[in-house]
Amino acid sequence: KFNTNVGQHILKNPGVAEAIVAKANLKPSDTVLEVGPGTGNLTVRILEKAKKVIAVELDPRMAAEVTKRVQGTPAQKRLEVLLGDVIKTELPHFDVCISNTPYQISSPLVFKLLALPNPPRTSILMFQREFALRLTARPGDALYCRLSVNAQFFAKITHVMKVGKNNFKPPPQVESSVVRIEPKMGTERPGVSWDEWDGMLRICFVRRSRTMRASWLGSKEVLAMVERNYRVWCAMNDVKLDETVIGEGEEDEMEVDDGPEPAGVAEEEEWGGIMDEDEEDDTPAFFKEEAEKAARGNVEKTKSKKKKTRVAELVREKIRKVLEDVTELADKRAGKCDENDFLRLLFAFNEEGIHFA
Ligand code: SAM
Repeated sequence: KFNTNVGQHILKNPGVAEAIVAKANLKPSDTVLEVGPGTGNLTVRILEKAKKVIAVELDPRMAAEVTKRVQGTPAQKRLEVLLGDVIKTELPHFDVCISNTPYQISSPLVFKLLALPNPPRTSILMFQREFALRLTARPGDALYCRLSVNAQFFAKITHVMKVGKNNFKPPPQVESSVVRIEPKMGTERPGVSWDEWDGMLRICFVRRSRTMRASWLGSKEVLAMVERNYRVWCAMNDVKLDETVIGEGEEDEMEVDDGPEPAGVAEEEEWGGIMDEDEEDDTPAFFKEEAEKAARGNVEKTKSKKKKTRVAELVREKIRKVLEDVTELADKRAGKCDENDFLRLLFAFNEEGIHFA
């Protein structure tokens, strides 16, 4: 009866449904967006506490179920069901989001909510446990990754409660957790361009256990991408470049000392290597293709010989200066860097005319 391909795992424990709605601290004046109402187990409880519920449901059978459930009750008029994919739906204004989220859309949903012109005051969202832990992970944690940095760039995220798989019908394969997401407002939000920020993080997190030096200076593709971007910046700012060719480039990847393996790597492997950002894409699709290519650079080695130029040398020196002299982050691993480290890094690159978007 339930289509698990679209994440249909119905919450069968009324206590958990009550707790989720309670965690949202709803006001009687609130309009709530519910993603994937299913048969309406959360919907009816939200309707008891809020002025209005806008429920977006992909499956017409489920949309019919939840509509039927409130039919003939006083709540009927306060429920609006929108049929469709929430990611593709233009959302009207709402104050709070509550969702037992279909796990396929976890990441796009988080970023869609946070990128809204008026993001919801609070979002109470159920996710697979591991996704929830990645969202809330702090520097040095086993699950700290680009997703953690990006999500926490926009919002304060807290783990609210664990929910075992037997609370669902049918039970999913993994455990779940509920998180609370509260957007950062005004000055809490770093004043940098999102595209630049994410473009830079993609390079830092190709391998989170690599040193910054290895991530930036150890990959031809990263160097080539930084050079291309630098050339664009120079063209736009009337900076003349010395185009002298100074020899043939080498065919192999450059050797950059990555230092000893840090403690905690074994632990990471026990998790099945999920931390390799190039294996699992968990951030939204609105990024520059260039950055994507660079992120893949460490695995795909180019065979073609490239001419060594003064510009390439200049770019290398700029990166070295940023990492070693300005930020002193050269020996630090992305997995240990906090938001402030990444901000310092981005400002230092920008100072050198190096941009990522
Ligand atoms: N809220 C119900 C509950 O807690 O019992 C059902 C939750 S179930 C985990 C997820 C629901 O989201 C399903 O009803 C599924 O059909 C719906 N769904 C899946 N993908 C969706 C999408 N992209 N947009 C909107 N709803 C979606």
